[in-house]
Order: sequence, then structure tokens, then C-alpha cells
Amino acid sequence: MCFNDILRANSRATGPLIIAGPCSAESEEQLMQTAMELSANGIGILRAGLWKPRTRPGNFEGVGEKGLEWMKHIREVTGMAMATEVATPHHVEACLKAGIEILWIGTRTSGNPFSMAEIAEALKDAPSEQIVLIKNPLCPGIETWLGAIERVQSSGLKNIGVIHRGFADFSDSVYRNPPHWEVARKLRSELPEIPMIVDPSHMAGKRALIPGLMRQAVDLGFNSFMIESHTDPARALTDAKQQLTPGDLKSLLNTLFPVTRKMAFTTV
Ligand code: PEP
Ligand code: MN
Repeated sequence: MCFNDILRANSRATGPLIIAGPCSAESEEQLMQTAMELSANGIGILRAGLWKPRTRPGNFEGVGEKGLEWMKHIREVTGMAMATEVATPHHVEACLKAGIEILWIGTRTSGNPFSMAEIAEALKDAPSEQIVLIKNPLCPGIETWLGAIERVQSSGLKNIGVIHRGFADFSDSVYRNPPHWEVARKLRSELPEIPMIVDPSHMAGKRALIPGLMRQAVDLGFNSFMIESHTDPARALTDAKQQLTPGDLKSLLNTLFPVTRKMAFTTV
């Protein structure tokens, strides 16, 4: 079974692959409500950050380990697969214990070779089917990203994918993290066997720019997405401006993928 098949088996959808959920888990009720709404729309993989890397101290830094218990419960109720960010060996260990199906390594971590080496070491204890997704580092270019991928590969895991979430730059871009598609395409041509998921939420930084970015991604042949979704985006504790309600996400997917729409929302 190829990696995409594994993601699909976890996603229940036969259309474009969608991983969705809030930027951060805030409470069990918020996470459950979001999961139920997304699941009813045919989305089978829930994302939620438990340990949040904040640019400045003093902001909400995530609910931490207790969110793993919420995820276990939500998985039982909805049948969704769970995805969360890991940034330290301790996070990896706790997630492996909770059986979190998909771990992603965030942008601030993937650019740090020491952190990547420590995480790769901790991943040696993961089951062989563990899925690990590596976000691009902050600076445009593929070298550091390749290094992060190679370090995870050194753990012996095979189900490795990448997430393109745009790059920090000093230009006057309308985007929070401009996509620099040429970098993603270069990585794809160097590692064609590694699935690439596009994260238009962190590229956009604003809800209104998400549809256009997804259209650009589709035109370039990308068909897997990680999208932030919150039941009450205006009150989200992190990334409030870029989150979509599950209902708005459903409408967006219906517009972007009219042909596969029927299939995408059929539970298999
Ligand atoms: C996130 O996915 O919420 C996140 C913090 O992402 P990034 O590492 O891309 O900034
Ligand atoms: Mn976020």
C-alpha cells in the first residue's frame, strides 16, 4: 500500500485528500464539535495543535498532553484519524503512547538540525505504519527541508510526507507566507515518491485568500491539503484570521472540486 493509500484509508474520502481541524485544541468540547462537523462533511483526518510554537511569549501555548486524551476519545466517537504537531522527543513519546496516527513537524522545528536529530531518534520507537509529515522550514529553499526529511528517514520510517506551508520573507506580499511554488516543485521533482500536502491556511494568513491559493495548487497538480477549521474562528485562541468554519470549508471544497464532490463526501 503506498503512502497516499494509507492516508486515504485514514481519510474515508475518495476525492482530494483533506486534513482539517483547528489550529489549536482549546477544549474537549471545541475539538469534539469541530470533529463532528468535519466528519459529517466526509473529512476523516482531524488536525489540532496541542503544543503551540508561539512567536512571542505570553500567548496561549496549547493545552499540552491532556489534549491527547481528548483526541483518543474523539477518535472513538467519530472514527477519524488524529494528527498533531511534535517538536520535542517528549511530544513524540507521548503521541506514540496515545497512538496518534499522523505526526507533523512544524516549520520552526524542521529548520533546526539538532531538534530534527532528536526527534528522529525518538521516532525509532514508532510503529512501522507511523505517518510523519514534515513542514517546510521558514526560509525559501530545499536544502534544509531535505535535511529534515533525511533525518526522519534515518529513523527507519517509510510513511513520510511533506507539507508545503509557504515561506517567511520580507517582501510586501499579500500572503502571510508566500507560496514560492517553484521551491515546492523543485522538492517534488527531487523526491517524486514523497507525497506533498499543501497548507493554504498558513500561506494565506487570511480566510479570503485561501480559495485562490488552493486553485493555484490544483493547477500545479497538488491534490492534498491541510486546512485550519474552527467552529468559531473569530474567537480562536491562535490563527483566528485564517480559520474557516467547517461549513465554509465544505462549500469551498464543493466549489473547487465539483466533479469529485459527490465522491469526496461519500463515506466508504
Ligand atoms: C500549525 O500548523 O498550526 C503551525 C504552527 O504551523 P507552522 O509550523 O506551519 O507555522
Ligand atoms: Mn496555525
